[in-house]
Amino acid sequence: MDSTLRPLILAVIGEYVSLRKSGKQYVALCPFHSENTPSFYVNEEKGLFHCHGCHVGGDVIKFIELIEGIGFKEALKRLAWITTAFRDGIKTSRYKELRRSWPTGLMTNI
Ligand SMILES: [Zn+2]
Repeated sequence: MDSTLRPLILAVIGEYVSLRKSGKQYVALCPFHSENTPSFYVNEEKGLFHCHGCHVGGDVIKFIELIEGIGFKEALKRLAWITTAFRDGIKTSRYKELRRSWPTGLMTNI
């Protein structure tokens, strides 16, 4: 995986759920099923997430697909757009703003 995507997975997922560091991984309440005990894990090193409760998992692209209910290509476009923004020094805290301004269907050149 692209090394720039590793910290990105935490930044992106961290905007949807509240991540807590647990050993080498990060844990949170799963956004894909209802639970009271966190079983949603993010492995920054591998750039992967996995839920032990509902067994969803994958990389940051998969996460965007699932949480936004969009297809792979659209998720990829959005991720590319976010990555560029992050590289340009846009802070994680501005991600919500970025999300709101995600153009739909305007990123055909990525
Ligand atoms: Zn789950």
